[in-house]
Amino acid sequence: MFSKILIANRGEIACRVIRTARRMGIATVAVFSEADAEALHVAMADEARPIGPPPARDSYLNAAAIVAAAKAAGAEAIHPGYGFLAENAGFAEACAASGLVFIGPPPAAMRAMGSKAAAKALMEAAGVPVVPGYHGADQDPEHLAAEASKIGFPVLIKASGGGGGRGMRIVNRPVEFSAALDSAKREALSAFGDDRVLIEKYLAAPRHIELQVFADAHGNVVHLFERDCSIQRRYQKVVEEAPAPGLPAAMRTAMGEAAVAAARAVGYVGAGTVEFIADMTQGGGRFYFMEMNTRLQVEHPVTEAVTGTDLVEWQLRVAAGEAFTRTQADIALNGHAIEVRLYAEDPARGFLPATGTLHRLRLPEGAARVETGVREGDRVTPHYDPMIAKIVAWGRDREAARTRLEQALAETGVLGVATNLGFLARIAGDPDFAAARLDTGFIERRKATLLAPPPAPPDAALALAALTVLGDRPTDGGEPWARRDGWRLNAPPAPQTLVFSHAGEALTIEATACGDGWELRIGERTLRAAATIAAGGAAALSLDGVRSRALALAHEDTVAIFAGGESWRFERVDPLAPASGADASGGRLSAPMPGRVVQLLVGAGDAVRQGQPLIVIEAMKMEHTIAAPRDGVVERVRYAVGDLVEEGAELIALDDPAAAAS
Ligand code: ADP
Ligand code: ADP
Ligand code: MG
Repeated sequence: MFSKILIANRGEIACRVIRTARRMGIATVAVFSEADAEALHVAMADEARPIGPPPARDSYLNAAAIVAAAKAAGAEAIHPGYGFLAENAGFAEACAASGLVFIGPPPAAMRAMGSKAAAKALMEAAGVPVVPGYHGADQDPEHLAAEASKIGFPVLIKASGGGGGRGMRIVNRPVEFSAALDSAKREALSAFGDDRVLIEKYLAAPRHIELQVFADAHGNVVHLFERDCSIQRRYQKVVEEAPAPGLPAAMRTAMGEAAVAAARAVGYVGAGTVEFIADMTQGGGRFYFMEMNTRLQVEHPVTEAVTGTDLVEWQLRVAAGEAFTRTQADIALNGHAIEVRLYAEDPARGFLPATGTLHRLRLPEGAARVETGVREGDRVTPHYDPMIAKIVAWGRDREAARTRLEQALAETGVLGVATNLGFLARIAGDPDFAAARLDTGFIERRKATLLAPPPAPPDAALALAALTVLGDRPTDGGEPWARRDGWRLNAPPAPQTLVFSHAGEALTIEATACGDGWELRIGERTLRAAATIAAGGAAALSLDGVRSRALALAHEDTVAIFAGGESWRFERVDPLAPASGADASGGRLSAPMPGRVVQLLVGAGDAVRQGQPLIVIEAMKMEHTIAAPRDGVVERVRYAVGDLVEEGAELIALDDPAAAAS
């Protein structure tokens, strides 16, 4: 076994690999970009080495710097994690050339599966069923159009070299084909540097079912059953589970055999995933090969949970040359596991990636396994994938796992950046999801419910927000000066007024100490409230005698309450402070969303008029122009063309309006 390995990755997967290596007595070397000097994976590793500036192409994709770091540290092997260089055959070869073991499949197997079109041809030859379609070399648009007609509409155009759902277009009618082909090719060229495409029959409401395979270097190939990843948004997985609910036993066996055959056909070694698309509407269910991912997959923990394995340990053992001590017959399924991906993104704004500081971060303990690469106080930057954590719940059966997942999500809270937490909680609680009515159209079909705006804050949320600010007990300590209950000598307790702003509306709460709780006046209502709020934010509230649990997170003037899968954010407004708002746009211009500066239209010292365009940023493939909120003189331009900016970052400072007038 290795004594020291380098992990060529960051975030939760780097942390996850480090944990297993440590358990196996293997020393770990982390690498980090300038943006990650304080990151969790750096703190966790035995040793860490800088590899370059924040952009991935200059650091986590910088093969030469990573190999050099491994050599300098005396590591014997490199674990690539997933993403970045994990499926880069050239990187695997560069490792070998430097005498380092690449913890992954042989470069030839990665190349064979690297092109979806070539992989499909190979699989067809190996007797693995493939999605009906055209995956030939002739890329002439007319030929492709003719093939599409032969397949029959609707068809799906896919980038051969694609991934992450990019370069894919559904075409419903022949007249739409040519335009869709052009745009798929354009996207493929800019994303993957390769505009070759293949065409597939587009299956309506299929399921995505993938098989975890594993091969050692001694000719043993096994599978570890399947995962169902049908809950997707724009072809990207949101929820994954194992095993696939309701999969007929015969189909499970056939899929396992097909996956093993696929791995054998390319001389596979290590961890891999064979992705199938399944059409359950055809007699008994049909499945077709889609692609093979030649790496550990993000959703591998659900497989670990139901097979009692540590797949990173398997990877390390296989890479060190050990042979399997288990055969297929030794691998059994136990229970059910569901994983959700918690992202820093804003579902209310088209799932725009969000950046900022995780001022408060509470992840579940006990109810679920949590994989994360961040901790409270860390920043989510625009440089890398905005995943905050994976939450994996296991249970004896699917319903037990689903209930635990709901419980785990109820213990989760994030304050500082927008997340998809509420969206995930709604999926977990959705009746169709609970009944395992799964297919890739689930989110689209259920979006009216899944994305409906949160309900108005209930009194319980308002009361808990108030008690978070007031302190849960009015009479903490006997010392009068320490008391927070408005205690006055020889006078009844004075009411305190709290003003919160929620979703742009002001809410006023009057609080009067009363016994060991508070009497709260909210609008016309008078309520008796008491709570205990633990340091982590877990709160037990009693409201007019009714008890409930929630999570209360506070940072500066913001309080967020998480309950029943929903959350509400309240900003505390000081009623005595001068009206704000004017100041916010006063001399400051900030980025409405994370993006990249593509154009600077002014420089320091320029006089500008109200409404004049100042700077253009590109975000989500769209350009946004920032215009002057008033006349003034540009004092400072804080970014250059090409710079990445975070949401809320001040882009340009205008001078003081009073000074401008003089
Ligand atoms: P990627 O490389 O982006 O993962 P895949 O080929 O694995 O590309 O497809 C991604 C997703 O697109 C699948 O999980 C599935 O939801 C959908 N998809 C792919 N092929 C088809 C098809 N022929 N019909 C319907 N949906 C498909
Ligand atoms: P023990 O029997 O002492 O627990 P094992 O050799 O069975 O030790 O290893 C423990 C774990 O590692 C098991 O999950 C096993 O399936 C897995 N494992 C064993 N040999 C290999 C190997 N060569 N490659 C990957 N994983 C392995
Ligand atoms: Mg895929």
